[in-house]
Amino acid sequence: MITGTVFKALGGYYFVRARDGDYRCYLRGRFRRKNKVLVGDNVVFKPQDNDTGVIEQVQPRKTRLYRPPVANVNRAIVVFSATQPNPNLFLLDRFLLQGEIAGVEPVICLNKIDLVGKSDIPTMYRSAGYTVIVTSAKTGQGVSELNEVLKDNISVLAGPSGVGKSSLLNSLQPDLSLETGEISSKLKAGRHTTRHVELLRLKNGGFVADTPGFSNLNIPREITSTELGYYFPDFEDFLPHCRFSGCLHHREPECAVKKAVVDGKIVGTRYEHYITLLHEVIEQERRH
Ligand code: GDP
Ligand code: ZN
Repeated sequence: MITGTVFKALGGYYFVRARDGDYRCYLRGRFRRKNKVLVGDNVVFKPQDNDTGVIEQVQPRKTRLYRPPVANVNRAIVVFSATQPNPNLFLLDRFLLQGEIAGVEPVICLNKIDLVGKSDIPTMYRSAGYTVIVTSAKTGQGVSELNEVLKDNISVLAGPSGVGKSSLLNSLQPDLSLETGEISSKLKAGRHTTRHVELLRLKNGGFVADTPGFSNLNIPREITSTELGYYFPDFEDFLPHCRFSGCLHHREPECAVKKAVVDGKIVGTRYEHYITLLHEVIEQERRH
């Protein structure tokens, strides 16, 4: 028996990367009806020859992403560019929230740093507790840090189009030959509805989905207004000190989160974006 990770599903076959190479596997009929195997699933299979096998077991999933459908994602790299397009911090906070909700530890990647030289964003988000890597797909700056973040993990790249997601992967590993720029390609939004997601195999042992993560940025309905604050890691230290349990950190008196904003311990824009998202959740609760 061999264990491995499914990186592609096509025509009834599951392509599995194992320690000693890649195998084309299938599921036995009885098994097939009960199990939906996703890319990212860890499976145990019985090899039949050098490169084929029969899947005997699917190991329990740690996470499950819906867009794109991938199992066991443990990293979301939220890519923004320092310019072209200019960073929209509300959108960034929305992506970070999606990562937190999915339980996949978001890491921020600020790309195209070669075009600006300097940016306040890294300091701001590091103080909020996030890991921020600063990169240039053009000069290669920060690409080795990106490599470290992707190593041995299953990751999705998220972020608006045009920020350099494909370019970064190409500079990390040129043989991926992903299309960049305006041309419609797999890492570009819009095309992936007809094709299944595949995991790109990295030389560092990691996998990256070939489809951008979180193409749907709506807040899931199961998130309630009272728990929204728990998805802001920079609020965490203060939440237990609010006067009222169930504090929405909005109009309530003696709110430790609001005090932290005034004291400069929580970045003002993060709080403002929280309030905007809170209204969105409240509106959603009202409708259902
Ligand atoms: P994606 O839509 O996020 O995959 O973005 P692409 O990788 O297609 O990049 C969009 C455009 O930005 C392309 O024209 C790239 O050549 C350019 N680009 C990507 N990364 C950088 C960078 O770090 N610096 C500069 N100057 N241009 C970049
Ligand atoms: Zn509060």
